[in-house]
Amino acid sequence: MTHSIMPEQFDAILKQFVDLKERSPFYAKKFEGIDLSAVKTLEDFQKLPFTEKGDLREAYPLGLAAVPPEKIVRIHSSSGTTGTPVIIPYTQKDVDDWAIQFARCYEYAGITPSDRIHITPGYGLWTAGIGFQLGAEKLGAMAIPMGPGNTDKQLQMMQDMESTVLCATSSYALLLAEEIAKRGIKDTIKLRKGVIGSERWGEKMRARIADELGVELYDIYGLTEVYGPGIGINCKADSAMHIWADYVFVEIVDPETGLPVEDGQPGEIVLTTLQKEGAPLVRFRTHDLSRIVPGECDCGSHHPRIDIITGRTDDMVKVKGVNMFPAQIEEIIAFTDGASSEYQVMIDHMDGRDIMTVFFETEAVGEEKAAVEAQMQALFKAKLNMTPVAKGVAVGELPRSEKKTRRIFDNRY
Ligand code: ZN
Repeated sequence: MTHSIMPEQFDAILKQFVDLKERSPFYAKKFEGIDLSAVKTLEDFQKLPFTEKGDLREAYPLGLAAVPPEKIVRIHSSSGTTGTPVIIPYTQKDVDDWAIQFARCYEYAGITPSDRIHITPGYGLWTAGIGFQLGAEKLGAMAIPMGPGNTDKQLQMMQDMESTVLCATSSYALLLAEEIAKRGIKDTIKLRKGVIGSERWGEKMRARIADELGVELYDIYGLTEVYGPGIGINCKADSAMHIWADYVFVEIVDPETGLPVEDGQPGEIVLTTLQKEGAPLVRFRTHDLSRIVPGECDCGSHHPRIDIITGRTDDMVKVKGVNMFPAQIEEIIAFTDGASSEYQVMIDHMDGRDIMTVFFETEAVGEEKAAVEAQMQALFKAKLNMTPVAKGVAVGELPRSEKKTRRIFDNRY
């Protein structure tokens, strides 16, 4: 069984298909031998091959362009940690559409033109900072384009400019929250909302940031290949994120088989753009894991919802024959009394066997700490049927970073 598509969305796909192969040499090649005019149903559509990140990389530098060069007003690039980057060309309409979507995100979060938006994600080739700024300007709010780093200056500007909205990664928001607490300046900070770039982050961390900064938190979703951040956000009513149905069609597929799963079931997010000109994408595999949240949202919005991202398909690790996702590890840590939200996992291979060590921050010491460690090990055994080494360290000892914090280190290969 496949899941639902809105009739307007399917119409938009068919409209794109009329001349997609003429506009896009990339898709002319990708869909060679496939007659797109024969796609009549969602089932037909879901038989089309996926677009993989590797395909985009092969199109470097401008092979993804589906418009003449003079129509491209900007490029962005997704950060490949290895190999060739992916270059995404944007037309003016793409840039405008992105701003519209991002402004809508701010509105869903209850942010208004009287807000002052403190933007800490980076500016440059990637889509982070500039997307947050586009949306702020479109909304008519005051953008404070800080970029990352220099905590002293961040806090000074936050006080002087009376910033009311913080845009950050979860790890940087936590770093700022801890710094504000340490300096005892919470009373001078006017923040009321946090818009956090989507990455998998546990409930404990969310609660700590919300609590220490005294803000309401929102998760924003997006990726460079598909505009950038801003294609969806959660609303006041729910933690699941609405994805803008007029711009993007969401499918969830089984990451192993590639087959669509039923609404509500977990799997990999696959996205199709509905209006993009510069680099349209059909069935792009994001490798992000989530699920469609079925039913209508209490807020009354009809934009479909996906759950908070639970991990990446490539984050799955196998230790002693047990498959596990970071979200499961995080859940166990959250359940352990006395363990804080910060953790790091090391996986090694020694003397012919796998050893997994979970380092976590705790205020407990001595016997009390040993009890926390034992409880965590018992929870791992009960939930995942494997027992790691659990090791408590003092609060503040594990690294924080301005970018996404890497927490799982597989040193076996
Ligand atoms: Zn809603």
